[in-house]
Amino acid sequence: MKFGGTSVEDAAAINRSCHIVEQRLPRKPFVVVSAIGGATNNLLEAGALAARGEIGKAMEIAERLEKRHAELLESTAEQFIRLRELLKALGAIGEFSPRTQDLVASYGEVLSSLIFADRMKRLGFDAVHVDARQCLITDDRFGKASPIVDITTVRLEEAARPHLNAGRVVVMGGYIGATSTGVTTTLGRGGSDYSAAIVGATLNAEEIQIWTDVDGMMTTDPRIVPTAWKVREISFDEASELAYFGAKVLHPLTVLPAVEKNIPVYILNSRKPVGTGTRITREARPCRNLIKSIAVKKGITVLTVSSSRMLMAHGFLKALFEVFDRHRTSVDMVATSEVSVSLTLDSLSSLDAILEDLRPLGDVEITSKAALICLVGNNLKYTPGVARRAFGSLPDINILMVSHGASNINFSFIVDEKDATTAVQRLHADFFNEIDPEVFEPAG
Ligand code: ASP
Ligand code: MG
Repeated sequence: MKFGGTSVEDAAAINRSCHIVEQRLPRKPFVVVSAIGGATNNLLEAGALAARGEIGKAMEIAERLEKRHAELLESTAEQFIRLRELLKALGAIGEFSPRTQDLVASYGEVLSSLIFADRMKRLGFDAVHVDARQCLITDDRFGKASPIVDITTVRLEEAARPHLNAGRVVVMGGYIGATSTGVTTTLGRGGSDYSAAIVGATLNAEEIQIWTDVDGMMTTDPRIVPTAWKVREISFDEASELAYFGAKVLHPLTVLPAVEKNIPVYILNSRKPVGTGTRITREARPCRNLIKSIAVKKGITVLTVSSSRMLMAHGFLKALFEVFDRHRTSVDMVATSEVSVSLTLDSLSSLDAILEDLRPLGDVEITSKAALICLVGNNLKYTPGVARRAFGSLPDINILMVSHGASNINFSFIVDEKDATTAVQRLHADFFNEIDPEVFEPAG
């Protein structure tokens, strides 16, 4: 059971989460917690300020963090003495290396896990705190470390199995680990989901529950379609296609270690613990609806590069993509004709520099304010006529680009941003006019 930052943000949230654990005691829960909401950002900000010489501001942040944590646990003083010393040292050194960033950030999960274990005990449950830095052993790629599976498995088994067998709840901080020589590391931002998947996979959990603040995955953004359904079950591949759309749900890749072992992953709402959430599985089970979800992303820019040099030539695409590589900008959709290439970007941070580098390759046309609409569903693999059906409900909407086939569970196209809401509403009304009750249910 993994509880994210909002599920442990204050005393009320922690109590609620502890009672969710209580309800599952017979199933021998292993609890992984994130830092309390906002703590990781605060810690990294304090470290950056200290390294820039703004030690006063850094200490103010430490002060506020200590206050929040001290309300939740009595014995936090020692941790904060060490954190302050660390911040002072950063001020003296004047740099904030990835290795030190991990050390500073680790205080969030160290504290939240101590707090959660303490709260379980005070509520009268048998609980034990396990230090992630003793069990989750990683390489030394600071800021994005990967677990070393065999040592981690042995350590986790030793640290947790006897307690679990004795009916004790094990509580561990997510996101953090240590190298085999004991240097603190982190798995990357949002890494607590990854920690939960690693624990679940190594200890062969029955299932993994990611407790967050949304009901699960939806058939589309409920701000666009208030009657959107909750998706009860989705395959890992489908969830991965949707990840790009920034739904405030987990990034599926982080739970891959569990999915590979065929351990189902649930997304659940800690504010509505009776909900059934969304279940992510390795294989999609049969669904009577053609698609599972319609995602939309606004603020897309379409670039079209046209050049007669492209005719019958090779190496053009290579030169083109090198430009995006150089500016570290990812391209999301591509369509080519004999004399032109259209592609989409969702980040404009290097647009001017990119345009400058593209000009020698051909004429560049820019369409800003576009939206990407994406239909995702395993059944698209087997069903002909999806394009006709999708575009059938959009006879008056101009389609700027289309993509289908790369992963054949995704049908995507680009429209003008001003048409996006109407398009999604019509598509949703058509594709989810009737729903398979095994797979969808009303939200809330
Ligand atoms: N606390 C870490 C972060 O904010 C890890 C997590 O929340 O999963 O990135
Ligand atoms: Mg988080």
